[in-house]
Amino acid sequence: MITKSDILIIIGGGPVGLSCAYYLLKSGRKVTLLDAKEIGKGSGSGNAGHIVPSHIIPLAAPGVVTSALKWMLDPVHSPFGMKVSLDPNYLSWLLKFVLACNEANVQRSIKPLNDLGQLSARNFAQIVAEEKFDCSYQEKGLLFLYKTEKAFHDGQHEGKFMQKHGIPVSVYDKAKIHEVEPAALDDVIGGVHFKGDAHLNPAVFLKLLSDRVRAMGAEMLENTPVTGFETANGKISKVKTSTGDFEAEQIILAAGALTPAVARDLKLNIPIQPARGYSMTMSATKQMPSHALILGERRIAVSPLDGVLRFTGRLEVGNYSMEPNPVWIQRIENSAREYLRLDEKLDVKETWAGLRPTTPDGMPIIGRSLKHNNLILATGHAMLGLSLGPGTGQVVAELVNGQQPAISLSPMRLERF
Ligand SMILES: Cc1cc2nc3c(=O)[nH]c(=O)nc-3n(C[C@H](O)[C@H](O)[C@H](O)COP(=O)(O)OP(=O)(O)OC[C@H]3O[C@@H](n4cnc5c(N)ncnc54)[C@H](O)[C@@H]3O)c2cc1C
Repeated sequence: MITKSDILIIIGGGPVGLSCAYYLLKSGRKVTLLDAKEIGKGSGSGNAGHIVPSHIIPLAAPGVVTSALKWMLDPVHSPFGMKVSLDPNYLSWLLKFVLACNEANVQRSIKPLNDLGQLSARNFAQIVAEEKFDCSYQEKGLLFLYKTEKAFHDGQHEGKFMQKHGIPVSVYDKAKIHEVEPAALDDVIGGVHFKGDAHLNPAVFLKLLSDRVRAMGAEMLENTPVTGFETANGKISKVKTSTGDFEAEQIILAAGALTPAVARDLKLNIPIQPARGYSMTMSATKQMPSHALILGERRIAVSPLDGVLRFTGRLEVGNYSMEPNPVWIQRIENSAREYLRLDEKLDVKETWAGLRPTTPDGMPIIGRSLKHNNLILATGHAMLGLSLGPGTGQVVAELVNGQQPAISLSPMRLERF
């Protein structure tokens, strides 16, 4: 089968691909969305659901390599792990990452991450209100909890840095943190509150967005992996899938951590590695946390969602398996119990693993390909793919429609690598 037309093909139905579909449909375009598996299920559904415009410091920053090495000496609590492999793509990615862990990379990334984060946060609020999405969306900020003076001090320092860049931050001493978050255990000594952040139930949001995109007229094809391409005259002339070939005016590649594999047939070298993480979703506890939280020293995210409580953690570079590891799932729960008043027994509703599509400098890749001029890349959002999805969707729609994107995309182009 060949579908020929003015259609736009989106490869990947995660938070990024679905957001692109939404904004393209809103601008009056026709969309076909192809996903290798189930739309809205990939690496977005079981995540923490944090919408964090406060996250303006990229993953590749000074001190990260030293911290990662130190953490690995504490195998029971380490939030970080990495695969041992001699695969040249993996080694080249690691080298690029180590070289990017410097102050210049942080300075280069702050503005683009801030601009995209703010745009995206505004778009979330608008989508949820306009589409009347009932997805536990709450604008209560993101609260970091600390148990040690050293981590609290570092947290305040980071907060002050972000404040200088316009991020609203409040610091709470021991008395105040227990007033603001009564679910915190007595030995929590302070907190830092990023007040412009929000959270929601990502699986519910993605299901509602995918239903809306279908209702707006998108053709949605699940279990349809893209297997290759044909190219001619600097353009993609055919997208090949397991069920047939497609022609399209423009193609948006948003396949998350699997983007490099999809792009290989296009002779594009996209430096993305998977950074696997886990979540466990539990029955509600008597004293539910009232905020989305980060447990500072342990780097565990906590998300109170209507009627359930989710803990997420770990960042394991280089591993593509999406099997939750029961040992780490248990350790994540143990860490949560170090900070929060939780019932002795909580029912586990779901355990989950997902892959963060991670670039070596910690910034996404968004822009038109220089090699194939009807291809747009929208990928590499690492730990922020949900958070930055609606902003990415808007700027991709603007690019497709030949408009000036709302924010500058030049720092995010593939050719920076
Ligand atoms: C534990 C954990 C917690 C997280 N918490 C947060 C959070 O709180 N906030 C936040 O913003 N982000 C969070 N993230 C990150 C976020 O989940 C990712 O950044 C996001 O899922 C990336 O979105 P995406 O659309 O680019 O890719 P994905 O969600 O991976 O979607 C890509 C889609 O492409 C499809 N695909 C792959 N190959 C092909 C092919 N050949 N043909 C067709 N389709 C294909 C896949 O099936 C998939 O559906 C978290 C991640 C993890 C693991």
